[in-house]
Amino acid sequence: MSITVNSDNGIALEPGLYIVATPIGHLEDITVRAISVLGQVDIIAAEDTRHSSRLLQKYQINTPLTPYHDHTNPAQRAKIIVRLQQGQTVALISDAGTPLISDPGFRLVLEAREMGINVVPVPGACAAIAAICSAGLPSDRFLFEGFLPPKTGARLETLNTRVDEIATLVYYESPRRLADTLRDMAQVFGDDRAAVIARELTKLHEQIEAGTLLELIDRVDADDNLRRGECVLLVKGCEVVKGDGLSHEVIAIMRVLVAELPLKQAAKLAAQITGEKKNALYSWGLANQDNNND
Ligand code: SAM
Repeated sequence: MSITVNSDNGIALEPGLYIVATPIGHLEDITVRAISVLGQVDIIAAEDTRHSSRLLQKYQINTPLTPYHDHTNPAQRAKIIVRLQQGQTVALISDAGTPLISDPGFRLVLEAREMGINVVPVPGACAAIAAICSAGLPSDRFLFEGFLPPKTGARLETLNTRVDEIATLVYYESPRRLADTLRDMAQVFGDDRAAVIARELTKLHEQIEAGTLLELIDRVDADDNLRRGECVLLVKGCEVVKGDGLSHEVIAIMRVLVAELPLKQAAKLAAQITGEKKNALYSWGLANQDNNND
């Protein structure tokens, strides 16, 4: 497919740093404005210049590329900042999707903004957004968590901080770790928590698998394909607990105490720790007895 793009009605781009989203799979998932901006800027800073040159070739964009990573080489950032200070236009792209979303760019954007340089978003594809809008989990509130730690201990610790989160949780995960991560999630959130694996979005083998965490573990164990490609893992938020009005922190304290003590004593101690009314805590404990004994 070929697209003819007129550069913004012939008006030159304002000097500045353009944060340009590129496709997450399907090469046509790029906006007309993104193609126009990439064709006009003085230089494109890219995570992997070889990888990005394929996309640029497809749209006949001949703008020179320069590598950019936030951490490996501070000199790369300094060179880009000098260009921007000279009034040039620079586009930042990543290998796929929106720069800065689990991708390089934060330090560059921060430094540019601190220097009063114009930073312009050119929005488009993002795997987290593609996943949340197709997963069938509540999308009114979601929490993007990026990648979990690769080792089980740290991963469990991180997941535990979200045990009472009511928003849908959105994680990026490597297919190699998918099975282990699902098991850790089941341990923390419970076997029955609803979840979705959204893999290979916008690509040939796109697949959106929904089920409880336990069901997904079984399917991943049985089907090698689910452990291939790229995936976003979504977990439904915690159901709002009866005894509304108590904060998640207070409920978390109650959960720890009722696991070790009789309810009456747990409510008394929690009241001393949190300043909440003992009766409210006791009622919450009664209403959630089944959940607490899991
Ligand atoms: N900046 C990108 C974005 O806007 O989504 C994310 C980059 S991050 C380094 C790469 C991770 O995003 C992958 O490991 C995977 O979790 C997720 N991802 C990227 N493309 C995907 C796709 N087509 N389908 C499912 N997940 C994808």
